Amino acid sequence: MKSEFNWEYAPAPEAKDHIKLKAQYDLFINGKFVKPYSKKYFATYNPATEEKLAEVAQANSKDVDLAVASAKNAYDKVWKKMPAKERAKYIFRIARVIQERARELAVIESMDGGKPIRESRDFDVPTAANHFFYYAGWADKLEYAFPNRNPQSLGVAAQIIPWNFPLLMAAWKIAPALATGNTVVLKPAESTPLSALKLAEIIQDCDLPPGVVNIITGFGDTGAAMVAHPNVNKIAFTGSTDVGKIIQKAIAGTNKKATLELGGKAANIVFDDAPINQAVEGIVNGIFFNQGHVCCAGSRLFVQENVAAEVIQKLKARMETLIVGDPLDKNTDIGAINSKEQLDKINEYLKIGSKEGLELFQTSASVPKKGFYCKPTLFIGAAQSNRVVQEEIFGPVLTIQTFRTIEEVIEKANNIPYGLSAGVWTDKGSKIFNLTSKLRAGVIWANTYNKFDPTSPFGGYKESGFGREGGLHGLMPYLKF
Ligand code: NAP
Ligand code: MG
Repeated sequence: MKSEFNWEYAPAPEAKDHIKLKAQYDLFINGKFVKPYSKKYFATYNPATEEKLAEVAQANSKDVDLAVASAKNAYDKVWKKMPAKERAKYIFRIARVIQERARELAVIESMDGGKPIRESRDFDVPTAANHFFYYAGWADKLEYAFPNRNPQSLGVAAQIIPWNFPLLMAAWKIAPALATGNTVVLKPAESTPLSALKLAEIIQDCDLPPGVVNIITGFGDTGAAMVAHPNVNKIAFTGSTDVGKIIQKAIAGTNKKATLELGGKAANIVFDDAPINQAVEGIVNGIFFNQGHVCCAGSRLFVQENVAAEVIQKLKARMETLIVGDPLDKNTDIGAINSKEQLDKINEYLKIGSKEGLELFQTSASVPKKGFYCKPTLFIGAAQSNRVVQEEIFGPVLTIQTFRTIEEVIEKANNIPYGLSAGVWTDKGSKIFNLTSKLRAGVIWANTYNKFDPTSPFGGYKESGFGREGGLHGLMPYLKF
């Protein structure tokens, strides 16, 4: 289907000649980059070009031991004793250096992960800096945040993050941990380690006392060794529900505290009294933002039956204008899928949905031959029982269901193992309040979607995990009272 808005844009690639990547990255432990005991390294690739960007160290359990020992030592000897207002200065410093090096970080994030430069530049990197600014402000005000409760730090936090928002997830984890007086061992995902390693360089430049933040790279077994380590007091994990369950089992019977931010399958609900054009923008932002690699993506669209035809027609027209391609091009709306494995998984779901008899719509956008790409996709006429409705796809794939009454849509929206987020589009405030009190989801956006702010808590219900990150709530999992 050709849209009436089919402009052609000249290429506008962001320069990458200023990016300096080492051929090989070691582990950042005790303030220095050190060689791994394992002596092994693995490659990280640019998913848009399939080029190797660098090699990073593969930490084994001895490396994890060293990182945890350095975090514990820094906690006992330095960080726990430091006056909170001094701690805050370091966190402010990290925030400012992220701002100063924003362009470099944004380009690296897009090269390593495949996300459009517009997003890494305008969302990921500034929001990461904002998290450090925000939590720096709390560091010396904890007794005001929790009056008469004498908040105390926990010790060493093991933090494990996924590949969809590498730098931002690192900021979500590190900033509140430092503000509350804990020290950190962080592991980025294997396919996107570079921005976390750049953050390690920033932390070194900021003269943070050695060992307060340690950043180690590796695979799932590295994460498992961090979780199992006896000197770890707190686990902060963002990733899949499957691994979240493994972690919960591993820490059962210990007194380790944990927050788990897991998968999602959010309902985005459009009523017939909604501003339809605005809603269409929100639907597009909800599922195609970051290639749908978003735990809170609005991946299940529910449209009230009497406006379904209009919404679908406008949505298809808007999707036709989306540009899929080079993540470093400023015009690109949809970049590369993060890895070959993730693209295979999405393609598998495209087959499943088609086999389930759903109408598949994909835009006519051309996609580059090299690299991992997926066109924005709709499954129209979906039902609750479809696997593409029930399971998390984590790609630019939207299922569309219709509904007649508010009771029906609440029941359908909640009838899923996940409960991370939801969206509601309506002209009526009363409907918004009715829904927000009945939808079992941690975050609900009204007449907007995918908006984030460091002051606002984020987290799930049910199999989407527990604990909150962001805002005042985000301090609590790092404190004992
Ligand atoms: P994943 O496979 O669970 O991996 C997440 C992190 O855990 C990675 O660093 C991974 O290392 C590590 N890991 C793997 N196995 C482990 C184990 N047994 N013990 C400890 N750590 C282990 O998830 P993903 O595929 O990277 O990310 C996508 C998922 O994350 C989606 O389900 C998405 O919904 C969820 N997510 C949730 C949120 C939220 O806030 N709720 C935010 C973003 C993403 P490797 O990279 O080496 O495998
Ligand atoms: Mg990569």
